[in-house]
Amino acid sequence: MALMITDECINCDVCEPECPNQAISMGPEIYVIDPKRCTECVGHFDEPQCVQVCPVECIPIHPEHQETKDQLWAKYRVLQGAATAADPKD
Ligand code: SF4
Ligand code: SF4
Repeated sequence: MALMITDECINCDVCEPECPNQAISMGPEIYVIDPKRCTECVGHFDEPQCVQVCPVECIPIHPEHQETKDQLWAKYRVLQGAATAADPKD
């Protein structure tokens, strides 16, 4: 499942650097999560790091991007492969 940021976000900036997949960025008004890059932290951490640090608890599961653990692992592997392809030295 990808997560999403609701309009309760107060733009406190703490989640963006915590994301291991660079899935979080500043949107037009509040921070947004790219569902193509969010693995719910699968592959990196046991718990979603953005949820852990968000002070206003505004990061629920995205209702339109519900995925199984297997699908999240597959997404993680694709992202890792893309990172390796982008920099062969990694
Ligand atoms: S759950 Fe993990 S991968 Fe998804 S946006 Fe939050 S920190 Fe990034
Ligand atoms: S941690 Fe929560 S309130 Fe802060 S920018 Fe991220 S989503 Fe918004």
